[in-house]
Amino acid sequence: MKKFISLLICICMITLMLAGCTNDQPTALIHGSYEGTAAGMQGPMTVKIAVEDSKITEIEFIENSETDYVVKVAIERIPAQIIEHQSLAIETVTGATLTSFAIINAVTNAAKNAGLDVDALKQNKIVVTPKEPQTWDTDVLVMGGGGAGLSAAISAAEEGARVILIEKGSVLGGNTLLAGAAYNAVDVEAQNQMILTRGQKDTLDGYLALDPNDPNLKFDVFPEWEEVLTELKADINEFYSNNIGKKAGEDLPGFDSSALHMWHMYTGGLRELINGNWIAPEVHLARQLAVHSLDAFKWMGEIGLEASYGADAKYGDAPGTGTVLGAMWPRTHNFMSGALRIPHLAKVAEEKGVTIYTETKGTELLVDASGKIVGAKAEQIDGTQITINTTNGVVLATGGYCADPTMVKEYDSYWGDDLTTRTLSTNMGTNTGDGILMGLKIGAAVSGMEVAQMMPSSSPVKGTMTDGIWSDAAEQIWIDGEGNRFVNEYAERDVLAKASLALDNGIFYIIYAGRGDIGKPDQQLKGSDYNPRVAAMVEGGHVWYGKNLAELAEASKTSAAGVAPAFTEEQLRNTIEKYNSYVANQKDVDFHKEVIAGAIDLEYIESNDDVGIIISPRKASLHHTMGGVVIDVESRVLDGGGNIIPGLWAAGEVTGGVHGGNRLGGNAITDIFVFGRIAGINAASRN
Ligand code: ADP
Repeated sequence: MKKFISLLICICMITLMLAGCTNDQPTALIHGSYEGTAAGMQGPMTVKIAVEDSKITEIEFIENSETDYVVKVAIERIPAQIIEHQSLAIETVTGATLTSFAIINAVTNAAKNAGLDVDALKQNKIVVTPKEPQTWDTDVLVMGGGGAGLSAAISAAEEGARVILIEKGSVLGGNTLLAGAAYNAVDVEAQNQMILTRGQKDTLDGYLALDPNDPNLKFDVFPEWEEVLTELKADINEFYSNNIGKKAGEDLPGFDSSALHMWHMYTGGLRELINGNWIAPEVHLARQLAVHSLDAFKWMGEIGLEASYGADAKYGDAPGTGTVLGAMWPRTHNFMSGALRIPHLAKVAEEKGVTIYTETKGTELLVDASGKIVGAKAEQIDGTQITINTTNGVVLATGGYCADPTMVKEYDSYWGDDLTTRTLSTNMGTNTGDGILMGLKIGAAVSGMEVAQMMPSSSPVKGTMTDGIWSDAAEQIWIDGEGNRFVNEYAERDVLAKASLALDNGIFYIIYAGRGDIGKPDQQLKGSDYNPRVAAMVEGGHVWYGKNLAELAEASKTSAAGVAPAFTEEQLRNTIEKYNSYVANQKDVDFHKEVIAGAIDLEYIESNDDVGIIISPRKASLHHTMGGVVIDVESRVLDGGGNIIPGLWAAGEVTGGVHGGNRLGGNAITDIFVFGRIAGINAASRN
């Protein structure tokens, strides 16, 4: 009976509540704080909303790993819009789509917990009306605010031009923001502080022995490169004669020259396409990059981009340069990371008088009757139409198109079935080839569109370069699902990507015990309080960690990044011991790694509870497009007949021909600063 009465009370209450709703009687207003969680790009995101009189009045982030520069506009703008418009139908922020959804979803969940009418909040669409069309005048318009665009804008302003820079995304930076700090430059001074390894000496001797008639060199297709080989041999011979009596691995210093850098670009970028054609870098563009690599690096220093010459020596006791993955030679310099570099460049640009507009997308190049580029059309995020008239012209710096795998697939003649329209990408979402398409429309020629580079060591889940462990290419040990090495980790990126994509699910594993000298595991892998970045990766299920190999093998039975290879301790021990012996002998008899370092001192690790070892699952994802508009050494864009298109310059990933079929790791940043500067200076002087 009691049960019956309480059921009746419940039914009455529900009836009353429903009646309250349908009869338009005021329902009780909601007050208080409520939390909601949703999945973000980097981890869970939790928000706390304050509700007064059934309205969301405050949004506070309780847990948020997405604090970096890329998402800053989303983090500021979306909560403000939700509160202002009492709406959950908010537009996502360009370039931060996943984070935008995470914020909206977390607030939606908090609103549900509060008992707010979520459907009504979703119905409440915000109407955005474009402003009146506008016309802006300037000398130089730079389209794209990544590294190439910012260096072009700064250089043009330094030459006294009035400069406007427009950027499609909500923040500046493009892929240059996400890129590492690797910058290749031919730097004899740095090489002099290093010791040439025995493997490097063998490589140089191998170059001296090359026969120009060797069909593998493809001088029949690219005869202009023979001269570079001759130059390289002369450089090596001169180096040897200046260092008679010195021994590799002991007192022979490091070696580098523009011809060697160019030779690496050639051999690293010479590729056969599926269609049977061969592709290689344009020799004159490769020379421009190699010869100016150090000047541009020094210029970056002059404008305050802090650089380091690889302060911790890798192959000797003196400071020197390192080798980023796929660089083929230790000429990689480091400088401040993207999150610091881009705001700094933006500050310098503004100080030099560049006017910057974000969320402003270039849509069309304007051509006058004589065929000169005289400006561009653009559209702002609210739909406002802009016409930008230029006296000098436009610098295209809109980056590549790896954020659009369909476009990559359409042009592809390299990856075949290894590439699909669903292949993940390391890129900013805004890099969709806009500049290339605008260029094509006005008759610009394109080259190298058949190849896009994959970044072998990307997250298997997101495609990004996050959630994993990297180190110098010479020190990395890559294994397959059986715990065996399968490739020369010092090889070019496409070679690495192809070898790894041939494995089960295309997933491979990097063993990591820290960078640095043989047997000195990195401080960041220390015991229970190891570096928080590593700890977050372990806890986030991205990598496996163990204080010894038994623990590591055990950890690999649980899933990380969706895989659980379950390595045995024996597999790992065999592979590491074999690798260590190759480092000790400086000879990799399995894969012929030319520069081999990073032996893991298992005895040290296993007898010290406060150091450990990590395995990071990785998979190749789309990274950098080789193709783009054709330029000459002065960064002027050419048409199909090889003629200069007046008033149009281009620099960075939007261009083709610089890297041939594969870009060396560490050459992208060199490319954007070398050619960005050239484009900016020339656009300012209308050359
Ligand atoms: P690069 O390394 O060549 O400088 P990035 O990827 O770093 O290339 O930068 C290219 C920038 O160009 C990105 O920030 C991207 O958002 C921007 N961009 C792409 N398309 C357009 C466009 N249509 N208008 C303005 N900016 C664009």
